[in-house]
Order: sequence, then C-alpha cells, then structure tokens
Amino acid sequence: MPETAPGRSPVAAPGGGSGLDAFIAGLPKAELHVHHVGSASPRIVSELAARHPDSKVPSDPAALAEYFTFRDFAHFIQVYLSVVDLVRDAEDVRLLTYEVARDMSRQAIRYAELTVTPYSSTRRGIPPQAFMEAIEDARKAAEAELGVVLRWCFDIPGEAGLESAEQTAQLAVDLRPEGLVSFGLGGPEIGVPRPQFKPFFDRARAAGLHSVPHAGEATGPQTVWDALNVLGAERIGHGTSSVQDPRLLDHLAEHRIPLEVCPTSNIATRVVPTMEEHPIRQMVEAGVLVTVNSDDPPMFGTDLNTEYAVAARLLELDRAGVADLARNAVHASFLDPAGKARLAAEIDAYTASFDGSGGAVPAARG
Ligand SMILES: [Zn+2]
Repeated sequence: MPETAPGRSPVAAPGGGSGLDAFIAGLPKAELHVHHVGSASPRIVSELAARHPDSKVPSDPAALAEYFTFRDFAHFIQVYLSVVDLVRDAEDVRLLTYEVARDMSRQAIRYAELTVTPYSSTRRGIPPQAFMEAIEDARKAAEAELGVVLRWCFDIPGEAGLESAEQTAQLAVDLRPEGLVSFGLGGPEIGVPRPQFKPFFDRARAAGLHSVPHAGEATGPQTVWDALNVLGAERIGHGTSSVQDPRLLDHLAEHRIPLEVCPTSNIATRVVPTMEEHPIRQMVEAGVLVTVNSDDPPMFGTDLNTEYAVAARLLELDRAGVADLARNAVHASFLDPAGKARLAAEIDAYTASFDGSGGAVPAARG
C-alpha cells in the first residue's frame, strides 16, 4: 500500500525473520482507535482535492507525498486542518468514509470502530441529517462490497469547548445512526479537564452508548482516573501515562478495561520520546488488556499492519502472540457476541492455515 505509507516506521523491522510481516498482512484484524479524517490517505486526499480545485491542497500524487512529509507537529496540525477543510459536503463525507474502508480492506481489517467528529462537519454547514446518511450509506456499501464492518464513535473535539460537546451529544442521541456504538472525547488534554464533559457522557451513556474517551495521552494518570470515575470510560484511548501509577494499572487489569495503544502516534506526538521507551510492555506485564491501533495512520506514516509489527517487536511476539493481539481487539470491541465469535473463528482459521501451509498468505480482500 504505497499510497498509505509515505514513511514506513523504521522501527518496524520488516521481515521479522519468520515471515511475521506476511502473517500480519493477512491476519484478520479489528481496529478500535482510528480517526475518520485522520485516515485520509494521500490517495483519498487527492480525490477530495480534485473535487475542490480552489483548495490549497495539491491533487497531484507526487506533490501530495511532499505535502504529507511533516516538518514538525505544528505542520502536522496545519495539514490535518487542511484535510478537514476538504470535507465540505455530504458526498465528500461518503467518499472519505468508503475509501477509508477500502484502505482497511487491503490490510485485512474486518471490523473498525471509526472515531467520527460530526461537529467539524455540521459546523461547516453540512446538514446533520445529510451527514448521517452519508456515513451510513458508506458503511453499508463497505460491508457489502469490501467485507469491512464499520461502527462509529462520535467524539467531542475537546478544543472546541462545551458547545461542541452539547452538539455532539445531541447529534448522537437525537439522530443516532444505526452504526453508532460509542461516545468519545479527543483533542488536547492540557487545559481541557475531562470532568467538565460529564453531563454529555451521562446523556450518551443513558442512551446506551459506550464511553471511550481519550485520556492519559498528553497528561498524567489522574486524567485516566477522571475518565474512569467521572466519564464512565469502558476503554481508554491511549492511556499511555497509566504506567506512572501502579494502582491504576492494577485497576485497569482487575476491571478488564482495555487500553487502545497507538505506538507510532505516541512517538509522532512526542508523548513517548523513543519507541524503545514505549510502555506497552509494562502494560502487558501488569495484566492490562492491550489493543494495538493506528490513530491517524497516513498522517503518522503508518498503518495497522505496521503497528502490529512494532508491537510484535516491542513485546517479542511470535505468530501466536500476534494472533492473541488481534483476539484482544475483538474481545475489547463493541461487536455483538455473534460478530465477535465469527471474527475470532476467522483469526483461528487463518492462524491454523498459515501454520499448516508453511506461510502461504490468503489474499486480503479489496
Ligand atoms: Zn486518537
């Protein structure tokens, strides 16, 4: 997938010695922490840019690859916002969503909970009902045509304040699309305390949505405690700083609250200084249920397969260990029990066939 990998992470150590990369590439996977606009690969951005020639974003693939080479974090934010600016009408939303699913199908991702920020689109003038129809149309087409099951997490863009929280909760509860399963909170953590969002999480949870805020990414373990105790978090987005508090790690392990770990993202945003210092091993050793995810994959020069390879290296996993990581994601997902059983069986069958055939890789769909 050259169009999604402008800079494969150098720490992924492709090859893996035992065909681990080939195993990962065909392994049926679930992804639980990945953002909608943040999944727009250069190929998708080029299609969106072609629809809006007045935009500053180049549509030529070579110029786009250059555009996607980030100088620093501020530049990353600038590029991210320029991609947000390309999503202007319901057709852009539909195209983006379906094409993200196509990129997922090429990585053998069978199920994804995509974090969508409807506020960014409705604020830009896309009518809420048209937005919901666009994502739902794309979801149904992706499932039927690509074999990728999508579900939504609607998240509050924390930097946009309480008004965005109010609107996101209202959109989630009043217009609730069929694929919506959870309610989240993203954006900066510093200066944006989690407890202020309690009323909105209360509303979403009362309507039956799961609570999955980002927490403990840019701030310390207290933010994770707040997410758990105040927002009723059932999974934690990142939770990187949890390792600073042994009591918190014990709590997460005891209550089986999964962490959505996104290794390359943590390096790109400088939450963790180097991959060697990534705390994923500490999390696993503390008994916490760890899932591996890609966050904003093309923007961080990664994809889910690369993140699995990174995790395999950091955790020293063989094929069985990598398959267990994939099972963790299925277990931690909000799929219904039948869907979980189906995907787990697919992972088992793939693992058995891979071992039996000496490493032949069934083609990923799409
Ligand atoms: Zn995220």
